[in-house]
Amino acid sequence: MNTTDTFRRTKIICTLGPATESEEMLEQLIRSGADVIRLNMAHAKHDWTRGVIRRIRAVSQRIGRDVAIMMDIKGPEIRTGDVATPMELKAGEIFDFTVKPGGQGSEEVRSVDVNYKDLVKDITVGDTVLVDNGLLRLEVLAKDEARIRCRVLIPGELKSRRHINLPGVKVNLPSFTEKDRADSTVGIEEGIDFLALSFVREAADIELLRAFLAEKKSKVRIIAKIEDQSAIANLAEIVQACDGLMVARGDLGIECPFEELPVIQRRAVNACLAQGRPVIIATHMLESMITQPVPTRAEITDVANAVFEQADCVMLSGETTIGKYPIECVKMLDTIARRIEQEDGKDRRLAANFTGERMKVLHSAVVLANELPHAKLLTFTRHGFMAQGLALLRPTHSPILAFTPSIEVYRQLRLLRAVEPFLMPLASEPNETIENAISVLRREGRVSAGDRIVIATDILAQDRLVDSVQLRTVR
Ligand code: PEP
Repeated sequence: MNTTDTFRRTKIICTLGPATESEEMLEQLIRSGADVIRLNMAHAKHDWTRGVIRRIRAVSQRIGRDVAIMMDIKGPEIRTGDVATPMELKAGEIFDFTVKPGGQGSEEVRSVDVNYKDLVKDITVGDTVLVDNGLLRLEVLAKDEARIRCRVLIPGELKSRRHINLPGVKVNLPSFTEKDRADSTVGIEEGIDFLALSFVREAADIELLRAFLAEKKSKVRIIAKIEDQSAIANLAEIVQACDGLMVARGDLGIECPFEELPVIQRRAVNACLAQGRPVIIATHMLESMITQPVPTRAEITDVANAVFEQADCVMLSGETTIGKYPIECVKMLDTIARRIEQEDGKDRRLAANFTGERMKVLHSAVVLANELPHAKLLTFTRHGFMAQGLALLRPTHSPILAFTPSIEVYRQLRLLRAVEPFLMPLASEPNETIENAISVLRREGRVSAGDRIVIATDILAQDRLVDSVQLRTVR
């Protein structure tokens, strides 16, 4: 019997917000296929954060499907200050961004404060300032120590506390801010699984967060969000330093020329495949479904493209935080991914050039599984390495059934392409562990008599544990 029909390889990340934070909506999100729930700390208070993390865990436990939780901390961010009422900026208008008292504009020149006082040091005459996701564009004409003076190129409305992007400008803000530290502490206390660090510019930014996690004795894994030109310039070292990468296309599409975005996405996915890191494609995947019940044809193709590229995860943001159709969005990703996955094994790029011996053993397991129609891969993993190794080798059709005794590892495995985690204590005798796992898989309908299973695991050989690849047929 072919029991692969129930299996989706590409994982789904949903950002939680007003549209989905209730217990009832969370249950529907998880039942529809969400694998990871993301909390965007740009908009979250600590009471809310603690409350929703506990709710996610309670709902998961009640329905018997544990999801992972990713806290997305906002990193260095420049914002405008408050304005009493929204200002309508006109094309050609001269406008000031002020960083010090006394910099305020005059009757002739209007202005707004900015939360970063060294902005005047980092910026150069001729640079571009983008406000509110690029809706407003200004050109820098002059600067002094209290302000930068600009001309409005693309007009629009300026509201309070809008995000500022400075394409190509090397900003000297710390990568892990006081707010990030406070948010992360709450997340660690509540048992989150991943921390996504925004605006990573170089490997050192990740090392800083890793040192903080070590100080807290936390095993939370680090997702590096690449969002600007520095991250692209330092892509290889960032991929090497992180535990996973997010292609944060929202800010990337503002910070880089838009036509570069698909090129950057493909480069990032390939760099992750080559260096063995999971990769997430984020932002605007089903943007039109914030207000409409069906996606555009272009969005369907964008999701399909991420699946063809062999990304580990696709991510929803506004679609599930404020959208009218959050559950439909998850189902839509699920449907598109399942269909495209039937195709994508056919033009698979062979991932990763691994030299370690254990990876070579895992490689032979994947080669064997690829040669056997409907075969499944089975592995046992205390820290997640065996499962991650198999996932990186991108088996063409086999699910990776990964048993772990650790609930933390179980949840972290939710991020990995093609991995289905199972929680089970490992017996002291490897053969007993294998028999136990097969019993669980039979009971849960994941394998049945006649199914072939390729097992990558340690076995006991004359009192020594050795790596092995076994082929078994379920009886
Ligand atoms: C993005 O910019 O695409 C992104 C995911 O980050 P955020 O939602 O924090 O802006």
